[in-house]
Amino acid sequence: MADAAHAADVRRALPARAEVVVIGGGIIGTSVAYHLVQRGHTDVVLLERDRLTSGTTWHAAGLATQLRATYNMSMLAKYSAELFPRLERETGMGTGFRQVGSLGVALNEARMEEFRRSASMARVCGFEVRELRPAEAAAMWPLMDPEGIVGGIFLPADGVANPTDVTMALAKAARDGGARILEHTPVTGVRTTDGRVAGVETDRGTIDCDVVVNCTGMWARALGAQNDVTIPLHAAEHFYVVTEPIPGLDPDLPVLRVMDEFAYVREDAGKLMVGFFEPDAKPWATLGIPSDTSFIRLPEDWDHLGPYVERMARRLPVLGDAGIRLHFNGPESFTPDDRYILGEAPGLAGYFVAAGFNSVGFQSGGGAGRAIADWIADGYPPMDLSEVDIRRFLPWQGNRRYLHDRTTEVLGLLYDMHWPFRQVETARGVRRSPIHDRLAAAGACFGEVAGWERPNWYAPSGVEPRYEYSYGRQNWFASSAEEHRAVREGVGLLDQTSFGKFLVQGPDAAALLGRLSANDVAGPAGRVVYTQWLNERGGIEADLTVTRLSETEFLVITAAATQARELETVRRAILAGGDRAAVTDVTSGYAVLNVQGPRSRELLASIVDADLTNAAFPFGASREVDLGYARVRASRITYLGELGWELLVPTEFAAHVYEIVVSAGAAFELRHVGYHALNSLRIEKAYRHWGHDVTDEDTPLEAGLGFAVAWDKPGGFIGREALLRQRAAGRGAPGGVGKRLVTFVLDDPEPLLLHNEPIWRDGHLVGKITSGMFGHTLGSSVGLGWVAVGPDDGGEPLADASLLASRYELEVASRRFPATPHLRPPFDPAGVRIRS
Ligand SMILES: Cc1cc2nc3c(=O)[nH]c(=O)nc-3n(C[C@H](O)[C@H](O)[C@H](O)COP(=O)(O)OP(=O)(O)OC[C@H]3O[C@@H](n4cnc5c(N)ncnc54)[C@H](O)[C@@H]3O)c2cc1C
Repeated sequence: MADAAHAADVRRALPARAEVVVIGGGIIGTSVAYHLVQRGHTDVVLLERDRLTSGTTWHAAGLATQLRATYNMSMLAKYSAELFPRLERETGMGTGFRQVGSLGVALNEARMEEFRRSASMARVCGFEVRELRPAEAAAMWPLMDPEGIVGGIFLPADGVANPTDVTMALAKAARDGGARILEHTPVTGVRTTDGRVAGVETDRGTIDCDVVVNCTGMWARALGAQNDVTIPLHAAEHFYVVTEPIPGLDPDLPVLRVMDEFAYVREDAGKLMVGFFEPDAKPWATLGIPSDTSFIRLPEDWDHLGPYVERMARRLPVLGDAGIRLHFNGPESFTPDDRYILGEAPGLAGYFVAAGFNSVGFQSGGGAGRAIADWIADGYPPMDLSEVDIRRFLPWQGNRRYLHDRTTEVLGLLYDMHWPFRQVETARGVRRSPIHDRLAAAGACFGEVAGWERPNWYAPSGVEPRYEYSYGRQNWFASSAEEHRAVREGVGLLDQTSFGKFLVQGPDAAALLGRLSANDVAGPAGRVVYTQWLNERGGIEADLTVTRLSETEFLVITAAATQARELETVRRAILAGGDRAAVTDVTSGYAVLNVQGPRSRELLASIVDADLTNAAFPFGASREVDLGYARVRASRITYLGELGWELLVPTEFAAHVYEIVVSAGAAFELRHVGYHALNSLRIEKAYRHWGHDVTDEDTPLEAGLGFAVAWDKPGGFIGREALLRQRAAGRGAPGGVGKRLVTFVLDDPEPLLLHNEPIWRDGHLVGKITSGMFGHTLGSSVGLGWVAVGPDDGGEPLADASLLASRYELEVASRRFPATPHLRPPFDPAGVRIRS
């Protein structure tokens, strides 16, 4: 049968050209093809190496749960669950979708707190959710031993489906809509011309095309590498067991998750399927995934899995009674941050990727496929997808050893405690500041971002710099409070070497950056300008500073996490505009030491050969100064709301400059300050954080960043027309400003805000917190969050005054707490301190 299908595919001629070639026929590839057809792009060819589903999809357990870590990821999973029944209607094919709900049980109070916070998040997403007492949870799953259960959470809209059936239905619907699907056709290469995709090569010939979508699952890394596209994923062994048939088993049992025992359970055709997310995963095929193998089953490993199965046999005694029929071990791809990879590859136009699904590819596949199809059809993503955007990765992250080591950890993270501030433990120490060891000696407890080791807080002498996680005040709370106060009252030193840094040079550099920046960056040399880069829709693509160094030279400084993204934006802008300009990534060339606080002037004046008075060195000024024996660039700017200077120090001078600052700082009680304090300081000042508070879905007008828009600068800027339209449309009107970013201070100092907490206004759910932290100066938790301008229940949209006059509550772990709203920063609203 398979041979006949093979022969038929080989006889079917390869088209010479297609608009889009989708590579890979798993759940993701077929979903992309189906959604492209839905968008009217019918000139689509899907090429599958072997048979549809023969990669990872065939053995997925079929869980279709919807609540994910963030709102947008949850929306993609929610869409998948809506798609399954629709596909059945469209194709007449079964998908096996059954909405049995999912039950999570907690075995300790911390997990229950996590569930309560998840329940709050579920309400933001509009999901029905019920918190359960132990007896209620036990009653839902009578086969379960209720020993140790402290509570549960039930999401009735979750379900299960059959991954192979869904994939086949997607393929049929795509074919019916005009897509051509060819099995037994491996893609051997992707052709490019002038930095663009030009076609694909197969062992049966080539197809010219403008767009490819690499949906080859665990093979994606190797295929991408052929074109220098970095797709950081690694396969891991992933296990489940299936029992013998159990007489009388209720087919409508909800999916059960016992995350504290690393396991999930579902009913499957009269049997129980028990899957595992164990904390010590086994990476597979580090040297490369075999390209000639399909429907892969890896060997059983009872030594590895036995303890987990035994634990579940105690939880579900029926497992022992029924006996195990199948011990399944199949490979799945995992990424270094446990988030999947979507989007157009930097440096290669038309090369899209949808891969690395970390064991949620089935439930996310409907939404992810639609997102990629929309992205291709519209030229931009349908929502903020920055957390899964391929541009979050740098080329080094394709490193095989790094991926191998990180993979041992990430599989288990799905079910491990999702502690606030949790740091990864594997593959650490990759990127370090030149003064890393000195910071460690000063007590730094490091966190990791994009491979960088960054001090998050400093342990007092005699205390080990190690996290003790909880949902309450963690062990670093008091130290970070001291660091926070030092910056507000004295002076603090932050190592921000991890910033992404770019030099943009050339006769057209000013025009290029002027076009990209909503603010006016083309002033005289020696000025640092805070600006957003917008897309054509007015959405915020980047939030950064641009410093003019000379007539033809600019320095762009951005967050560590967006280094690759911003670099790509500039490169593409140069290509699109034909500018006589070049961008160079100088991230590794400079350390950044940030000296901040009311006493920063006194401290720096004692070591810098420059006049630091307001008259000579006003806010926003940037110039080279001598410090010790070094020459550094000092920029008077702040992300904490205080007087301060950011010192850009050539890497080899960093240790010297650090020593001078610290030694002179002793007289001013200079304190080392970590990123947790930076975060509490910036939130009190309502400074926005790109990726959390503002994204490409939000405009500066909505975000309260209109002050950084130079409406009338010569030449305009990308996104200006969209902003003008939004301004003209009127508040609350279609196309107008429909939401505002508000800062909230909780009236009760006890609860801790993190992110995703629902915002209630006069009893209506109107938005969610995007970032939160305890504000040590304000003495309570502070959070930034989006609220709709309404109307909540009819009537006119709320003006700012009415927004502020409303009664707000923030929901923390399912309890509501009154909060005071602010449209200006709750701390130093007039910005007196930064200009002092
Ligand atoms: C044991 C197990 C249980 C799981 N359970 C769940 C679950 O309950 N819920 C859930 O959401 N997810 C689950 N997953 C994860 C899910 O199966 C995957 O995330 C998903 O199937 C990935 O789909 P894909 O299309 O990206 O990859 P694949 O299904 O691997 O598809 C990639 C396809 O590309 C083809 N290909 C490769 N190279 C080429 C080439 N050069 N040319 C042409 N074709 C090529 C391959 O043959 C393959 O068919 C589970 C995974 C495992 C291992």
